[in-house]
Amino acid sequence: MNDKTPFGWNGPTFEDAAHNHLISPFEEMDRLGTSGGRPMLVKGEGIYVTSSEGRRLLDAPAGMWCTQVGYACPEIAEAIAAQAMQISYTSPWYFLNGPSAELARRIAAVTPGDLNHVFFTTGGSSAVDSALRFVQFFNNVLGRPKKKKILCRIDGYHGSTQLSASVSGRAGNKPNFDLESDNVSFLSAPNSFRRPEGMSEQMFLDTLIAEMEDRIEALGADTIGAFIAEPILASGGLLVPPEGYHRRTHDLCRQHDILYISDEVVTAFGRLGHWFASKEVYGITPDIITFAKGVTSGYVPLGGFVISDKVLERISGDNAKGSYYANGYTYSGQPVACAAALANMDVFEERDLLAHVRDVAPYFMERLQSLKDLPLVGDVRGEGLLGCVECQTDPTAAAATDFDTEVTARIDRHCYENGLIVRPIGSMCVMSPALIITREQVDEMIGILRDAIMAVDVELRAEGVWNG
Ligand code: PLP
Repeated sequence: MNDKTPFGWNGPTFEDAAHNHLISPFEEMDRLGTSGGRPMLVKGEGIYVTSSEGRRLLDAPAGMWCTQVGYACPEIAEAIAAQAMQISYTSPWYFLNGPSAELARRIAAVTPGDLNHVFFTTGGSSAVDSALRFVQFFNNVLGRPKKKKILCRIDGYHGSTQLSASVSGRAGNKPNFDLESDNVSFLSAPNSFRRPEGMSEQMFLDTLIAEMEDRIEALGADTIGAFIAEPILASGGLLVPPEGYHRRTHDLCRQHDILYISDEVVTAFGRLGHWFASKEVYGITPDIITFAKGVTSGYVPLGGFVISDKVLERISGDNAKGSYYANGYTYSGQPVACAAALANMDVFEERDLLAHVRDVAPYFMERLQSLKDLPLVGDVRGEGLLGCVECQTDPTAAAATDFDTEVTARIDRHCYENGLIVRPIGSMCVMSPALIITREQVDEMIGILRDAIMAVDVELRAEGVWNG
């Protein structure tokens, strides 16, 4: 109880305090009051963190896909301190502040097309929630109260508010919650790895597009407000849709006056080598783009959505009909958070980080692909600095098995013991390192992962539970 804490405070340890008082996100309730397997991190520097037991770890998932410029970045820390001393808070209901105005301008300058207005929120879920509430508002003001349904995808993840969770399609997150269902319609996940045996990627794409066309026809375009899609399904298993998927789904939305929301909470701010991926990587200009995470490199919470002038014009000015968008947060455009984001963007520019990602990402992917020779590895996929190794113990199984998940958890444990955090999502080890990662650090990361997979392979064979 009396271990000295990192703040030099002689009280109960932070671990004790956490066990006794903290509810963590996605808490496994039967483990409440135990550590729940979550180690405590006490320090971060660059792409490494240190745990409370003194273990130095390469942070392959970059926290939660967010620590783009790395830990302990002095420019961001100083900007936060300076803004806190200048003016720490302004009510967005009554006042403007410089950092949020300037950040909106700078974000608008790097978004595609006419996406020129930014609405700030407190993170990714609130960004998605606000965008979905905007869709409702938009169609009500336009006098189209039926046009409310949201098309979304199985295995998509968009957050933890009621609306953002309702359009999220990971089956495991749904039990015991009463999510919206009337205005939500799920399409298949664009999961090429699990596509039907013998089907080409092109045929698979055609099937996905046909499904969307059929759904629009069945529901009626006049009932569908928006389609929401992550460019790469992140938490749902790093699913990279087949080439052409984004353009064709976008075309369908255009044909049917359905708003296209690109959820770039993970892919924006450099993850794929660009500020935003929608246009630069996939050739589409959405109506709305949501962002969070990398906008502050995880230093403070911030998110938001950017929206096109064309959409806004339809319900503003003379078209507003006395309406107001009654959605917002005490911390919308919080000045300290926006100052952190501005400093973050400066660091991106000063260190030419987008170019660095474009340079190092092919090497990362090549090294990741080199793991394919291991018998436990079923698939390796990714794009930019987003990568994943999917374990597969039974190539004939149509979906990942519980044993695959167990094997992946074991790999994670080995990695941790050898200085690497990989983030197991079911049967997948996911990696999305800080954008500052070097080639040598990619080698270190992949080296530890390879050793861990090989060690588990040996273990399983020795236990007689798997023989490749
Ligand atoms: N959208 C996507 C694509 C995400 O991956 C996440 C979180 O991982 C969210 C939204 C929710 O963001 P937050 O956890 O900041 O609320």
